[in-house]
Amino acid sequence: MTDKIFRVNMSTLTTSVEEVPAEWAGHGGRGLTSTIVAAEVNPTCHPLGSANKLVIAPGLLSGTVAANSGRISIGAKSPLTGTIKESNAGGTAAQLLARAGCKAIIIEGVPGEDKWYSLALTPEGITINEETELIGKGNFEVLSVLDSRLEGKQAVLTIGQAGEMRLAAANISIKDPDGGLRSSGRGGLGAVMGSKKIKFITIDPKDGKVAIADPDKFKQANRVFAKALVDHPISQGLGQYGTNVLVNIINEAGGLPTRNFTSGQFDGHEAISGETMHDTILERGGKVKHNCHAGCVIQCSQVYHDAKKEKLTSGFEYESIWAMGADCCVDNLDHIAEADRIMDDIGIDTIETSVAMGVAMEGGVLEFGDGAGVCRILKEEVASGSALGRIIGNGAGAVGRAFGLTRVPVVKNQAIPAYDPRAIKGIGITYATSTQGADHTMGYTIATNILNVGGNVDPLTKEGQVELSRNLQVATAAIDSTGMCLFIAFAALDNETCLPALVDMLNARFDLNLTGDDVVSLGQSILKTERAFNSAAGFTAADDRLPEFFYTEPLPPHNTVFDFSDEEIATFWDF
Ligand code: SF4
Repeated sequence: MTDKIFRVNMSTLTTSVEEVPAEWAGHGGRGLTSTIVAAEVNPTCHPLGSANKLVIAPGLLSGTVAANSGRISIGAKSPLTGTIKESNAGGTAAQLLARAGCKAIIIEGVPGEDKWYSLALTPEGITINEETELIGKGNFEVLSVLDSRLEGKQAVLTIGQAGEMRLAAANISIKDPDGGLRSSGRGGLGAVMGSKKIKFITIDPKDGKVAIADPDKFKQANRVFAKALVDHPISQGLGQYGTNVLVNIINEAGGLPTRNFTSGQFDGHEAISGETMHDTILERGGKVKHNCHAGCVIQCSQVYHDAKKEKLTSGFEYESIWAMGADCCVDNLDHIAEADRIMDDIGIDTIETSVAMGVAMEGGVLEFGDGAGVCRILKEEVASGSALGRIIGNGAGAVGRAFGLTRVPVVKNQAIPAYDPRAIKGIGITYATSTQGADHTMGYTIATNILNVGGNVDPLTKEGQVELSRNLQVATAAIDSTGMCLFIAFAALDNETCLPALVDMLNARFDLNLTGDDVVSLGQSILKTERAFNSAAGFTAADDRLPEFFYTEPLPPHNTVFDFSDEEIATFWDF
């Protein structure tokens, strides 16, 4: 089957299936979403207006048996940052979209009438259907109702109330293989989907399959690749304790932002750690290991049960647990899990919203440590769209402005996640220079700063940090284009068989002769495309900065500040 572009115009309520332009053919995932957004979206447009476009693309290897290749990329101009945005997630959408022969869905325009719609994609095309029953409903009810409406195995992408209200922290949720949710969380893409009045999208590949040019070579390369992933000790740690294994590690390093970024260590870290979570899951009969899509060999996800041994949440990630835990001083894992479930249901980014909650605590909205209060505000204020709920749902920057605060941890208006840049300086360079606002996944220097993967760069000194962040941001942009989960990076950095095997799979899939250098060039060109979009949108080097307090308030226990000059940060772009 030859891949096609499926285009939807919500202004005219029409759809079309188009050939893939030659200049897009070598792209997938983030490379494709960013290329399309840069080519078709006016950088100065309003992110919630008719000129913005929502682009959904599987990775280059999605839909194949390649291990860990099921990430879906979603892109647009972000309502949170005003920059170009790509957010990727697991779930079943990437694999089924690829099997349906879809290179990308491009959704443009906004409806003239105040009606809601759903989209249904099959290999034959995409249809627009009016939707009434599920409007105003949370994501879990959407999935439950669609289970009875849909035939066969179909993927679902959906927005909750946050997306309907076009809150800047709204996410797009993707059904996982067990009916749980994964989130395309950052940057408010759920608000863009809501602006186009689309409540959900279903994908039915029928009996579609992805063509492989050289199946034997592909299988052989995948064996080598999967073995490299499984053998890496960090993959094994992720499979046992989930990403939450990082709470104790980052606390020990003094880089666990606590009490709205006023300390790097949290007294309650043991209570919310991966080790405690692991034991609690075993005691209550949840699942310690779980995959967000078929074919994952690392399985960092899990299913967390409540005290009554009933499923509370899944895909319970370190960054979400840190944000609701240490940053808000909540040391009760059950409160954090409940808040995680509520945010998944509302369809709102757990990092942005919880950091916003920490800022709101500093503003006196509720006490630090009040986990029950966090759950109440989410349910009673954010989900219902009260004035306070909308301020929090528009992110940490909005809360800081509403309450007149200066300790507001955002870059390009996106909340800084779970690693303090004063104690782990490489990640500060990533936050400052990322084309998409503060985002650890754009260039995860924690690997080398803290976990000693790919060498070691001292987290407390400036030396080597810009180069480290640059190399990782380039590599990440390329990995994000393949549909691979970012956790392949640990094996890729340490095991010399891993990256060549990945390149071999790309060559075997498309009958190409790519080399490792081509992959680096791809990553560089994606970053440059994204930066050019941002420049045209009005961003300058002055936006590549951390908030002032990181330069002036020393962070205990190391009592260090972020001390890079503007000129030093600017050298990031020397490539
Ligand atoms: S390692 Fe975790 S995030 Fe990556 S594919 Fe597996 S379950 Fe998903």
